[in-house]
Order: sequence, then structure tokens, then C-alpha cells
Amino acid sequence: MLDGFELQDLTLYLTAILVLLVLWQYYQLQILSGRILAVDIFDRSGIRMYLYVAPDDDQTCEACASAHGRLFLPSHIAKKNFSPLTRTCTRTTPCNGVLPGLYGAWPEARGVLENLRKNFTKGGHQLSAEEVRALVNGQWERCISAATDRVSVYMIQAMVSERVDQEVSMEGYRFVVNEAKDVRHLMLLVPAYLRLTQLLIQAGEEAEALEIIELFERRFPQSKRGVHFPLEPQRDLMKAKKSLLMKNFPYRISA
Ligand SMILES: [Zn+2]
Repeated sequence: MLDGFELQDLTLYLTAILVLLVLWQYYQLQILSGRILAVDIFDRSGIRMYLYVAPDDDQTCEACASAHGRLFLPSHIAKKNFSPLTRTCTRTTPCNGVLPGLYGAWPEARGVLENLRKNFTKGGHQLSAEEVRALVNGQWERCISAATDRVSVYMIQAMVSERVDQEVSMEGYRFVVNEAKDVRHLMLLVPAYLRLTQLLIQAGEEAEALEIIELFERRFPQSKRGVHFPLEPQRDLMKAKKSLLMKNFPYRISA
């Protein structure tokens, strides 16, 4: 039987666990409602660098395209008014550039991180399009950081493959749409939905494009708001694509 002292200990432990659970819940709510920037989480999640990538397509504006490959340390991202762009995006519906974080323990990534740490103080560090490709084509899957980096690597691969290999690109976006559940991945979701829809339409996969738009609408209900939620022009774009698809392929909708 437990004596008084042990019972007291046990109560203390249980109370501590309960307090932690409540705090954790509170923290989640704060993040989802946008009161804590997702950035606050990144610094605690083992992310060592961020890479800005813009989709390799004709719709990306010059300002976003020229920032493709820019690298940042978590300390840079945490600064007030941080932007990965040096000029403002010129599109009415913003381009779908993203800033995935990486732990980056595979050899190519370690080299990139080392260079970034050495060179950032000298005015920034930017990879060429070929270097971005080489980075995500490295042996990341064999590495200890594979689980941490998987969603980000798939997203980067999808973005850089839009012109050269649409299948790889669509697979990458599908993976992000299905698997991005951590808070640090949420901001990849809207660009992944938008790009995947566009690629499916281009590939003549109208039925799947409609499915993806409907998933998007369910995932981001009009009545809710959040930091990772789509902007109004992005919602409008998806609505326009949906009505066009429904007009052209009404027989697919009844399913
Ligand atoms: Zn842009």
C-alpha cells in the first residue's frame, strides 16, 4: 500500500502532468489562432535553416523568382518584419513561394548550412537553381533527419520540378497535402493545394483537380481564420477554377 508520502508524491506528479497538458492545449490554440507565430515553434523544432523556393513556372513574378534559393538561419526569420523577398511580390494573387525549414543532416545540406553560417554576415547567401536541385536530390532519405525533413524536401522537389517533371511535382504536392500536419508545415499547405490544382488541370486530370479543390474548401472553411489560411484572392482563384471545371465537366461532379 502507498503511504502518505508516496501518495503526496503521486498527486504532485499527476498535477504536474495535468498542468503540462493544459499548457500544451493552450499553446496549440494560441498558434492556431495566430497569436503565436509559427516561427516561435520552428526554433524549438530542430530546424537549422530555411530555404525560400518559388515554383518553377511562368506565373511567378520577377521579385519572387529572383529570391528563389535564398537561405536563412532561424535567428533571421525570427526578426520583426522579416521577409524572404528583397522586393514586394507584384502579383494581385501572391505567388506561391514558400519558406520550408530543414534540419539538413545529409552531406549536401551540411555543406550548405556551413556556408550559410560562414557567409550570412557578409550579406546573405543564395543558392542557384541548380544548387537547390542538387540539395534535394542528395541522400536525405538515408539520413537521421529524414523524418524531420521529409515534408519540406517533398515540397521543394515539387516546386523545382514543375517544368521538368510534372509527375514528380504532383506527387510531391500530394504528399504535402496529405501529410503536412505539424504546425511548422501548415504554411506549405495553401501553396501545395494551389499548385497541385493548377498542375492537375494542365495535365487534364479534371476529376482529381475538383477533388483537391473540395478538400481545400473543407480544410479551410470560409467561416474560420488562421495564420496559415488562404488569402481572399487565393480563395477566389480556387472558386474560379472550380466553377470553370464544373461548367466544362458537369458529369464528373455528380459522383
Ligand atoms: Zn511574386
